[in-house]
Amino acid sequence: MSEIIDIRLAPEFISDREYIGRLIRQKQSISTDVALYFRLIKRSIDARQKKVVYQLRYEYSTEEALVELNCHNEFKAQDVSQSREIAVIGAGPAGIFAALRLIENGYKPLIFDRGKDVQARRRDLRAIQQESIVNTESNYCYGEGGAGTYSDGKLYTRSTKRGDLNRVLKILVAHGAQEDILIDAHPHIGSNKLPQVIKNIRTSIEDCGGRYFFDHKLEDLDQVSRDSLKLTFGNGFSIHVKSAILATGHSARDIYRLLDRKNLAMEAKPFALGVRAEHDQQFVNQSQYHQNQPSTILPPASYSLKHTSNTHSSFSFCMCPGGLIVPAATSPGEIVVNGMSLSRRDSPYANSGIVVTVDPSKMKDFGHYGLFSSLEFQKKVERDMFEFGDGSLAAPAQRLSDFVNRKVSTTLNPTSYIPGLITAPLHEMLPENIQTGLQEGFKAFGRKMPGYITENANIVGVESRTSAPVRIVRNNKFCNHPQYPTLYPCGEGAGYAGGIISAALDGERVVHGMMQYFDK
Ligand SMILES: Cc1cc2nc3c(=O)[nH]c(=O)nc-3n(C[C@H](O)[C@H](O)[C@H](O)COP(=O)(O)OP(=O)(O)OC[C@H]3O[C@@H](n4cnc5c(N)ncnc54)[C@H](O)[C@@H]3O)c2cc1C
Repeated sequence: MSEIIDIRLAPEFISDREYIGRLIRQKQSISTDVALYFRLIKRSIDARQKKVVYQLRYEYSTEEALVELNCHNEFKAQDVSQSREIAVIGAGPAGIFAALRLIENGYKPLIFDRGKDVQARRRDLRAIQQESIVNTESNYCYGEGGAGTYSDGKLYTRSTKRGDLNRVLKILVAHGAQEDILIDAHPHIGSNKLPQVIKNIRTSIEDCGGRYFFDHKLEDLDQVSRDSLKLTFGNGFSIHVKSAILATGHSARDIYRLLDRKNLAMEAKPFALGVRAEHDQQFVNQSQYHQNQPSTILPPASYSLKHTSNTHSSFSFCMCPGGLIVPAATSPGEIVVNGMSLSRRDSPYANSGIVVTVDPSKMKDFGHYGLFSSLEFQKKVERDMFEFGDGSLAAPAQRLSDFVNRKVSTTLNPTSYIPGLITAPLHEMLPENIQTGLQEGFKAFGRKMPGYITENANIVGVESRTSAPVRIVRNNKFCNHPQYPTLYPCGEGAGYAGGIISAALDGERVVHGMMQYFDK
């Protein structure tokens, strides 16, 4: 039988297995005459005190070697090539994990995506970065793996109630992700590793008989009968299926418009908008680890900041240590930024979305566009950012201290953002509630993390795609749409997830709801 022990360890001993073994023996009074088998099962960093320590949880046994962890059994593959077909629209985390669950339940997923496969997508990302050419169907948000593929690949969710997080992580490991994601408190994969993981999952799905259709943009859908949904794609292809999972992500504004034309119930929901702040990673390390010298042992540090006043709520979002700011627009004529990192997180920059919650119900003059108020608000800010510039994807930016002091920056700091930055009065350009929310937030962050407000950091506009501005209504139990009962809105775009893991878990949840509906 194995037991669990928690250990606090100085960073310099983190790779010293012999030392750790001795420590376990000492703490648990295990004589050196008996065997000791142990394995790390949880790892986090405690930087609350001056001396930073690793907080580790080990499983150990003195009786028998610990059973090897096997992630390959997590996904229960079976041949579904001749089974009933279910359409999945969108090959992002929600769509992919829904497809895997469909297979486990004996259905054959047909996965449609407007974008390209992970490899072909790379060329379009290069064109965005280097030539400011945005392909409306293939970009940082659209294509195989969805918005999660070329991201930081941070894999945590704020809610443990959403589903079996461990299952999702094990499936990712079985498909090529580092095993570390199973033990780290804040796991991440990195955008150099994610595409291969996504490709391996495709192979698993296809080996079971599932099928992928890239360059298939859903343009119309009709509930023909209780048991038949007609889907029509931009390339003229149409198909009747028993059911469809709609997992098109938060950027597919055309899908919201389509559903609106069909009079399908949706509701406006709060979302967040702001900027990306970029500091030197060294500053963040020194601040979080209380060290003047760079550490070669500790990983690049991250931060999480939040401020709520009577009027505004601002918070850091999707912080990417050692990362890059990327252009995440999905159409020409807009500037949208986001962050990503490679698995080693070794760029000299630390970027984070700093956003202000926008609640349509609380904003005056916001109701003008009805259901799409938030969406139009997002669009306008993205367009304003573009129109300020020179027609490329160079993004409006300001030194952080200048923004707080409402001063135009004459020059900017070096940046990881490849299309480049243009100095801009973001303190005037951003909508008033966002400006003031950010000002308040930054001042509070500067108190919590001294040095945060600095001329050595830039803020870059605009971080506008943090979450969906619209929720597609669905039944709580079955997860289907009340008007189109065989349509299952899913993932971030439907308003039920925010991030890779929660989207994946929602994909699983929707299939569970669908199975209950079939059994009804
Ligand atoms: C640069 C970047 C970095 C990010 N970093 C992280 C991170 O580190 N950690 C994290 O948790 N989250 C991160 N996110 C957010 C995360 O990627 C999303 O929350 C997640 O991908 C949402 O999953 P989804 O499956 O619901 O939708 P998406 O991933 O958006 O997938 C939707 C899919 O639907 C397809 N689609 C859209 N419209 C149509 C249509 N009409 N017909 C057919 N297909 C369509 C798209 O091509 C896309 O593949 C990041 C996002 C970006 C852009």
